[in-house]
Amino acid sequence: MTLDAVLARIDADLPQATDRLLDLLRIPSISTDPAFEGDCDTAADWLVADLQSLGVKAEKRPTPGHPMVVGHVEGDGPHLLFYGHYDVQPVDPLDLWDRDPFDPEIQDTDAGKVIRGRGSSDDKGQLMTFVEACRAWKAEHGTLPCRITFFFEGEEESGSPSLVPFMQENAEELKSDLALICDTGLFESRVPAIVTMLRGLLGEEITVTAPDKDLHSGMYGGIAMNPIRVLSRVLASLHDDTGRITVPGFYDGVPELPDNIRQQWQGLAFDHAKLLGDVDLSVPAGEVDRTPIEMIWSRPTCEINGIWGGYTGAGFKTVLPSKVQAKVSFRLVGDQDPLVIRESFRQMVRDAMPPDCEVEFHGHGAGSASITETTDPAFEQARTALSDEWNIPAAYVGCGGSIPIAGHFQDILGTTPMLVGFGKDDDQIHSPNEKYDLESFHKGIRSWARILDALT
Ligand SMILES: [Zn+2]
Repeated sequence: MTLDAVLARIDADLPQATDRLLDLLRIPSISTDPAFEGDCDTAADWLVADLQSLGVKAEKRPTPGHPMVVGHVEGDGPHLLFYGHYDVQPVDPLDLWDRDPFDPEIQDTDAGKVIRGRGSSDDKGQLMTFVEACRAWKAEHGTLPCRITFFFEGEEESGSPSLVPFMQENAEELKSDLALICDTGLFESRVPAIVTMLRGLLGEEITVTAPDKDLHSGMYGGIAMNPIRVLSRVLASLHDDTGRITVPGFYDGVPELPDNIRQQWQGLAFDHAKLLGDVDLSVPAGEVDRTPIEMIWSRPTCEINGIWGGYTGAGFKTVLPSKVQAKVSFRLVGDQDPLVIRESFRQMVRDAMPPDCEVEFHGHGAGSASITETTDPAFEQARTALSDEWNIPAAYVGCGGSIPIAGHFQDILGTTPMLVGFGKDDDQIHSPNEKYDLESFHKGIRSWARILDALT
């Protein structure tokens, strides 16, 4: 019955919890812009003070960039780590916001009450769901439920440059039995979800140069090699007619879906027609023999993200350009090795170069995919807790995006990550008018209380 007392406390304390979140949202902790460096520091201080008020030994830890916030509380049972980030995305274009992004408020909308403001969903609101669950627990029990390490980052929205070195230097301190990460969303905005599959990412920039200067096609057209023609042919050859990617060895390490996951996904009412319809499309463009849900969660991709070269201004100019450039990225799954694929891709492009053409490459990051084994009983316990709170069976899902932190917990600390989040597809994270449903915040706090109860 003690869980009931904690849940009742959470319900009664929601207005105060919301006020605390609004306080945190007023701090413009935009990590990528040096003008907000002091604000990032202020947000870290705010969190240290808040954790200390829960009896957590918390401190701001310096990095070459924005500080980490690390807090520990001792206890029996499993050692849990909780990760969230206190930095936010820039707010421009400002004129598309219906209010000051750092003057948050609760708004009534047709879909219910929302907390409007930058960071409300990504990730301050989500981060505070766990902190508030701990606060209610402490108020009812006098202590927190087990040994907990709080780990808050201030550079997630700007590429996390300090994260890996910090985790390596403090691996012994951060190592735990399970890392809870709250930076994801509900499946289809209504089903609670534990993300167990994240795709990796590899980026490449290509420059092909043919003549050493731009030429006039009246003078040189026909006799001189045009680098746009060369690169277009290469880019067009990256996919075959069935949507498969043609880079040699690309599918090495791509696993087939385990049967239990395939069955679960078949049971999910995934509406690909709506996903495509929302952006005025209708036909899935991936491998022809794969389902739409596989295309975004469990299959690797190759996308051409940008091409530029020659004359692109107003009017017309019959230029025969000296060089052309393109950016290409790959989403990776399973055991695909980003560095092996990078080499294979570069060799494929080099092999396609005719005489007189030179190609240069510039790499843009390479991270492998992560798949979480759900064999640890904590996963089923958490799934049951989530199902109980939301009154609908929680799902193990994939995520087309990349959350590098999950892989780092696994690789650097040997700690299994569990990704649970309460965001919705229409939260407009990274965009103007970001919001977090008050219900997501409230049920998120209650969910963590149930999960803590189940795990300890
Ligand atoms: Zn985030």
